[in-house]
Amino acid sequence: RTALPRTATRAFSASARAKAETLVFLETKGDSLVPSAANAITAAKKVGGKVTGLIIGKDEASVKPAVDRAKKMGLDALLVRTSPALEHALAEPTAPVFAELVKKGGYTHFAAGHSALGKNLFPRVAGLLEVQQISDVMSIQDENTFTRPVYAGNAISTVKSTDSIKLFTVRASTWEPAQEGDKEAEVDVKEAENVGPEWVSEELVKSERPDLATAPTVVSGGRGVKSKEAFDETIIPLADALGAAIGASRAAVDSGYADNSLQVGQTGKVIAPNLYVAVGISGAIQHLAGMKDSKTIVAINKDADAPIFQVADIGLVADLFEAVPELVKKVEEA
Ligand code: FAD
Repeated sequence: RTALPRTATRAFSASARAKAETLVFLETKGDSLVPSAANAITAAKKVGGKVTGLIIGKDEASVKPAVDRAKKMGLDALLVRTSPALEHALAEPTAPVFAELVKKGGYTHFAAGHSALGKNLFPRVAGLLEVQQISDVMSIQDENTFTRPVYAGNAISTVKSTDSIKLFTVRASTWEPAQEGDKEAEVDVKEAENVGPEWVSEELVKSERPDLATAPTVVSGGRGVKSKEAFDETIIPLADALGAAIGASRAAVDSGYADNSLQVGQTGKVIAPNLYVAVGISGAIQHLAGMKDSKTIVAINKDADAPIFQVADIGLVADLFEAVPELVKKVEEA
């Protein structure tokens, strides 16, 4: 297999050049630019028009060597955006900053290296901007048309984008790195705006009770239980008597009877205990999706036609407020 030719740096026609404005994210490691940042600049220049670099960091001092180098790499301008939350360029805080910059700056193109960071950040920025990302760009044919490898590099696909903003990551090895020159770009340093959520701390709920995901016995309550107080007075004593974990239907969770970490079903936990006791749960298909593989299913419901009885091994048609306390007593006596 022959090596792919490196892409020429000459930009397109004067009209394309006049319209395009490209922002290029320059990745840093420690206080320095990563090598692929220089390749990304070359790709951004290929689009034509004005090219603005973007460096982020905890504060100005932490990225100074990167800024001093980048401003000599033929950029028209260089933005530096700082915030303690941007120190490690985590996707959650960083993506909203990027999306805001692109929108406010009216950029037509936003580029970055196709590195682990670019691959993590850019899809999120694309989502926020509601455009399609173009990944691993090897060449740029005009300001709308890009080539990229597909099928693990066995074919090259040409992608023409009609999005208002072209968001793309570039394959470093196919672009010559931009060189430092004498001209220096103007540097604009500001605190970042629109920083996304930061990781602050975590509080884990500690419980003596068996874990719902792995417990051999689970007692779940549904809307039929009718209130949080009743949930605590019926479901919890039965779970205690059986040494069981507690579960709940979505209706019970949505009504505030139980924490949403206890939801069983399609959008909750999928479990398969030895014994699953469904109390006041109708047996909607979305609930069954989370518990139908349980070895023995016991259902207590006052409606003999409730669908839960179709999957139950043992069914008790009864008012739960009478049946459950009686059951608790019997289990405790046994
Ligand atoms: P209900 O359907 O209202 O049933 C209450 C039952 O209690 C009834 O059968 C009634 O006969 C019985 N009852 C009432 N009073 C008594 C009494 N005194 N004694 C005995 N029985 C009594 N649901 C989930 O559970 N988990 C999910 O993950 C989930 N994901 C969903 C995802 C999607 C996309 C959608 C659309 C829905 C999802 N749902 C999920 C909701 C699901 O469709 C049902 O609305 C929900 O499971 C109903 O919960 P329930 O059985 O507690 O309430």
